[in-house]
Amino acid sequence: MNLCDFAPEYIRAIQPYQPGKPISELAREMRLDENSIIKLASNENPLGTSPLALEAMIHELHDISRYPDGSGYELKQALSKLYDVGSEQIVLGNGSNDVLDLAARVFLKPGATAIYSQHAFAVYPLVTQSIGAKGISVPARDYGHDLPAMLDAVTPETRMVFIASPNNPTGTLSDSDDLLRFMERVSRDVLVVLDEAYYEYLPTANKSDSISWLKQFPNLVITRTFSKIYGLAGVRVGFGLAHPEVANLMNRVRQPFNVSSIGLIGALAALDDLEFVQRSYALNRAGMLQLSEGFRKLGVEYIPSYGNFISFEVKGDAGNTTKINQSLLKQGVIVRPLGIYEMPHHLRVTIGLEHENQKFLQALKNALGEIA
Ligand SMILES: *Cc1c(COP(=O)(O)O)cnc(C)c1O
Repeated sequence: MNLCDFAPEYIRAIQPYQPGKPISELAREMRLDENSIIKLASNENPLGTSPLALEAMIHELHDISRYPDGSGYELKQALSKLYDVGSEQIVLGNGSNDVLDLAARVFLKPGATAIYSQHAFAVYPLVTQSIGAKGISVPARDYGHDLPAMLDAVTPETRMVFIASPNNPTGTLSDSDDLLRFMERVSRDVLVVLDEAYYEYLPTANKSDSISWLKQFPNLVITRTFSKIYGLAGVRVGFGLAHPEVANLMNRVRQPFNVSSIGLIGALAALDDLEFVQRSYALNRAGMLQLSEGFRKLGVEYIPSYGNFISFEVKGDAGNTTKINQSLLKQGVIVRPLGIYEMPHHLRVTIGLEHENQKFLQALKNALGEIA
């Protein structure tokens, strides 16, 4: 069709995002019972959703004929109080991916460059390319962000730097002092997006005081999400915190009703359910130990992670990784292959419930046995 030839070359060159395989799809493909399948592929909360949030959202269903509050007033008030920022510093998004996209649309254009790390979250190249700007991938260091090298990569054309801490899929964390040094050195003409989707999973000692940096750095945007520890991935709510003028521009390009009424209500209630967050945190810590221990027993190398997932290595050529993944799928376990992240030897597993982790480890053991 000729029409599609008129779409800009940079749009046609976009590699589609590969989501985790849905349970229903695997059940059809492998003729498995859906209930026997465990999905540990999308870093979702294995405990599900906060019961308080669920109740609030069910109640809100009665009013879905109405448009949501486009300003997100109540959720912004709650976030403003919780994080001690002005509500004019908050940008709500249809997931934090939406906020990443808004930032790119405000600050990038063809000819501009955006910098991110090798093995960083796939949405950074995606939003960069969708504007026609140029993405620069800076080689990682021990799978983590090489912040000094990223700083060196900045040129007069650079308008954005994306930093994920913890990063997905590597689980690596950038040191708080290193981040602060980066902010001090980088040009104020470059917007730095600090993506902290897994912040709530960090032990207190590892939490940087990033939000307080906003006062010092008007070129900083911090993004957080309700998709991970708050267990609301399906309703799509995330937010960005920024200087009021930056937030204002992002809010202007935002679609007026980008967050649904169900999402707004669910997020608001989820913020109040500290018990659920605490339980999710504790489960994740325990699961992290269980899986690390399991990997060690199997002699499988893994990248120590600060998120709710672990990426592990399959020895031998990349074909082995595919074989292990196929075997896991046949056994009803869905994990995430990382070829698109330039990590063809790794698979990423999301930390699940204890029995899910157990089933995964047993399936991995079987799979390794098959290729030995
Ligand atoms: C999961 C994830 C997000 C969150 O995406 P949402 O759009 O909020 O669901 C953002 N950044 C990273 C690095 C992630 O892994």
